[in-house]
Amino acid sequence: MAKLRFQALQELFRREPIKSEKKAQTTSEYYGNNVFDRTKMKKYLNIDAYEVFTRSTEKNEPIDRTLADQIAAGMKTWATEMGATHYTHWFHPLTDSTAEKHDAFIEFSEFGGVVENFSGERLAQQEPDASSFPSGGLRNTFEARGYTAWDTSSPAFIINRTLCIPTIFVSYTGEALDYKTPLLKALSAMDKAAVDVCQYFDKNVRKVTSNTGWEQEYFLIDESLFCARPDMMLTGRTLMGHASSKDQQMDDHYFGAIPERVKAFMYDFEQEAYKLGIPIKTRHNEVAPNQFECAPIFEETNLANDHNQLVMELMRRTARKHHFRVLFHEKPFAGINGSGKHCNWSLSTDTGTNLFKPGRNPKTNLQFLTFLINTVKAVHKNSDLLRASVMSAGNTHRMGANEAPPSIISAFLGRHLTHMLNEIVEKVPDNKEMDPELKTDLKLNIGKIPEILLDNTDRNRTSPFAFTGNRFEFRAVGSAANIAAPMIVLNTAIAQQLKDFKTEVDELIFSGTKKDEAIFQVLKKYIIESEPVRFEGNGYSKEWETEAQKRGLTNIKSVPLGLDAYHKKEAKELFRNLGIYNNKELEGRLEVEYEKFTKIIQIESRVLGDLSINHIVPTGVNYMNLLIKNVQGLKDIFDDVEYKSLAKGRIEQIRNVSTHISDIKELVNEMIEARKIANRISETREKAIAYDEQVRPFMEKIRVHIDKLELIVDNEIWPLPKYRELLFAR
Ligand code: ADP
Ligand code: MG
Repeated sequence: MAKLRFQALQELFRREPIKSEKKAQTTSEYYGNNVFDRTKMKKYLNIDAYEVFTRSTEKNEPIDRTLADQIAAGMKTWATEMGATHYTHWFHPLTDSTAEKHDAFIEFSEFGGVVENFSGERLAQQEPDASSFPSGGLRNTFEARGYTAWDTSSPAFIINRTLCIPTIFVSYTGEALDYKTPLLKALSAMDKAAVDVCQYFDKNVRKVTSNTGWEQEYFLIDESLFCARPDMMLTGRTLMGHASSKDQQMDDHYFGAIPERVKAFMYDFEQEAYKLGIPIKTRHNEVAPNQFECAPIFEETNLANDHNQLVMELMRRTARKHHFRVLFHEKPFAGINGSGKHCNWSLSTDTGTNLFKPGRNPKTNLQFLTFLINTVKAVHKNSDLLRASVMSAGNTHRMGANEAPPSIISAFLGRHLTHMLNEIVEKVPDNKEMDPELKTDLKLNIGKIPEILLDNTDRNRTSPFAFTGNRFEFRAVGSAANIAAPMIVLNTAIAQQLKDFKTEVDELIFSGTKKDEAIFQVLKKYIIESEPVRFEGNGYSKEWETEAQKRGLTNIKSVPLGLDAYHKKEAKELFRNLGIYNNKELEGRLEVEYEKFTKIIQIESRVLGDLSINHIVPTGVNYMNLLIKNVQGLKDIFDDVEYKSLAKGRIEQIRNVSTHISDIKELVNEMIEARKIANRISETREKAIAYDEQVRPFMEKIRVHIDKLELIVDNEIWPLPKYRELLFAR
């Protein structure tokens, strides 16, 4: 029975690193080769088409039919020269991966045979049979029509001889069925609101861009061991497994030397990423054994998100080539660190200013403070939504579990900025003019921010939303997630906040207050109002939970209850006012999230039940029989007194194993009953709550017994690869 496990180990020890072919070229020579970027456009489009395209993407204007035809023809020529035979619209449905449906370029020729063809119409729009993508009831299957439309802001690329065109995905009635549509809307709302506020400081600003630099954590597991663990194959994580005696206690993995086989894998997927114009910059070992991280140079948020999804796909494919499986699950192993996807986020202007970077003079620094304080205020006001945006069945193992951002949303600014904010509160007078001396003094201090920050950006790794010198880092995002979800909420929240700020400042100016004083006054008010969300201490501590409660901050750990934030009146208003989601879209999305959660717990619970009954219980029984035989043997050989003393321990062990077996069986039966009751609930939210509260707890209880058995039962007959093998054999 344990054959598979030992075969897997044998196979693993025979493995050699797969040699990747070293490119003769330097990275810069082939970087972006597989992308239809501006350079290739120049080459493959006539100059008029190129210019009209550039202008319309900058101004977000629609592209007319003739132009689309010309671009499609140019794209096709380039793609076929590169060996592509097919094209596809590539989109982000509401699952955590991307979707594509390929069509060949061929069409019948009027002269017989076929020709390669690609029209503007096909470039601009496609109609995938979309009935199987989650829509939360927005699209009934009998009218399963949805269509994809070209996102001109993200360039087309070639993967595996297929030309991929990044697209949005919407229903025929116009509701968004994907992540990209609302993300683009949120980014555009933020742009508009931020440009308006920038006008206080710099009249030349015409565009504000949101930037994201994601850090992707993941585990690599040898393919044979992975395939010997049905729980990993079906759920992406281990549902059982006793802790390895050594795991991450020695802190010897973090930033350690990257194992040879892993390096070969990294090298391979990075090359593929470079060809796709994805600027992967950093790679290193993470805290847990067999855990790693990669991060690119930050990019515009929509592009960064496309690139993150692409990289995850590249990694999955490349891992298989190297006989690894890559795990993006947030918590593949109990008891050691899980994986996140930190999202570094900033805003920058078309005049070259990073709005989260203190500038060279008091004026740009006041602009910096304006954006900083408005962000903190937005985080305070929308903390429930921000939490909801990163909640999932996988991430719930991390959030609030003492290793990753807590489920209380707070913001960290560091000692010096905190001091600066306190100074503003102290010195700016309420509703009366600032005396000139004070104003100079304040501005002078503000002017000193860059110098102070230069050497003093303290880090706080327990804060879910931390300022890190020139950007914020949203650290609560799950490793498997599509980062659009948090980026939609964050950019929408900041858009509304900046609009509110402008309204308040303009009102003061209208009633006669000078501009910079009006700004100071509103900032002061915001600093005071948002103070509860600012926290500099240890976010993992028990004291913080108590303190946060006193401050009126919420601490929600349940996924379905956390998702309720999207249901609230204020949330609906926020998204509706800025044109991000109408009520129907928001409801649809929530339905999808509840269903996703329910299905994941349902699958996990089924897998655990099956494995318990057909892997673990029989193994326990086998081991018990061995012990029973041994005891019977003792009885045959020894006299009664000696037998009793010798067999005592073994009989105790038989009892022990037997108890665990009975408990497992009983708990599995109870779990099945709980599932049956939950399955009868038709309302999706109630069903998700039932799965969370009635089914999920059994999984912990059952695994306790299994993990105990793993320690007792003869290693030779234990069927599943153990943690020490999964994490250390490589
Ligand atoms: P860490 O110390 O957090 O590991 P890294 O140097 O690995 O920092 O950077 C993390 C990510 O932050 C990278 O993707 C990087 O490009 C990104 N980043 C740096 N500056 C900015 C910025 N201004 N806006 C957004 N992301 C940024
Ligand atoms: Mg970081």
